[in-house]
Amino acid sequence: MHIGNYVGALRNWVALQDKYDCFYMVADWHALMSEYNHPAAVKENTYIVVAEWLACGLDPKRCVLFRHSDVPQHLELMMIFGNLIKLGRLYRCPTYKERLRQPDGANLTNYTFLGYPVLQAADILIYRAAVVPVGEDQLPHLEITRELARRFNTLYVEVFPEPEALLTPVPRLGGLDGRKMSKTYDNTIDLSDEPDKIRNKVMAALTDIKRVRRKDPGHPDECNLFPWWQAMFSDDAEKIRPQCEAAQIGCVDCKRNLAEKLIAFLEPIRQRREHLLRNRSGIDEILVEGANKAREVAEETMQQVREAMGL
Ligand code: SF4
Repeated sequence: MHIGNYVGALRNWVALQDKYDCFYMVADWHALMSEYNHPAAVKENTYIVVAEWLACGLDPKRCVLFRHSDVPQHLELMMIFGNLIKLGRLYRCPTYKERLRQPDGANLTNYTFLGYPVLQAADILIYRAAVVPVGEDQLPHLEITRELARRFNTLYVEVFPEPEALLTPVPRLGGLDGRKMSKTYDNTIDLSDEPDKIRNKVMAALTDIKRVRRKDPGHPDECNLFPWWQAMFSDDAEKIRPQCEAAQIGCVDCKRNLAEKLIAFLEPIRQRREHLLRNRSGIDEILVEGANKAREVAEETMQQVREAMGL
């Protein structure tokens, strides 16, 4: 994961643990839809994702943390939902069209990838979730989930709530080169990056292109790195804005400060991550325990579904 994932999702998930009965799933089946050529990498990434979630503060005692493929009830429900949605509805999904336009889009014309929102609907509704913490870009998928819940409830017997989006205003961080932060563009700061790597990346990052010389006033709102300050170190951001606008601080110093702040923040996470990855059996135990809890709820839902349908 990279810092964009952290501020965009993970940080929020950690806070939600104490407000809701949360289910957090490592979506290895979803990953397989695009990484079907690399199943071993998907398995390895499961460990990495869990280690990073734990290192950032998810706590298996305060949430249900499990691996998708350990709960086969999701697929059973997906099959039932697959009957209730037309192909045209899936082809029109804006996230599907957008994803096909990405550099690896040509590999994503498979049947399962088109059906991604149907599996996602099953992932949500199998726990009869009331709310789902999603970003705005995921709203079209949630709408499909709500449609499927309505369709099922109307056709058979009411089993599912229509889940609401839990939209938390989350900052979107641009990548080091100013494009969207994404592994695809190789423009991220990763939770696993060591201090020197962070320094090198930040020092080479794009900033305000209108600020050519040190004495030129800066435009924080047009600087790629200022949102990083705002998202991660908001107190500092308030001080940096006037200094930047009055050319009291240069971009080199600003980047140097930012790199050191990031290192101080990320280094304990990186070390916890390394420690957790050295003890894979500990991660296995967490996943087994999480899957047991998840399966219990998922099977209860499936019993209601089968009963509702008279199966
Ligand atoms: Fe961006 Fe900092 Fe330079 Fe201002 S001083 S333009 S915030 S890098």
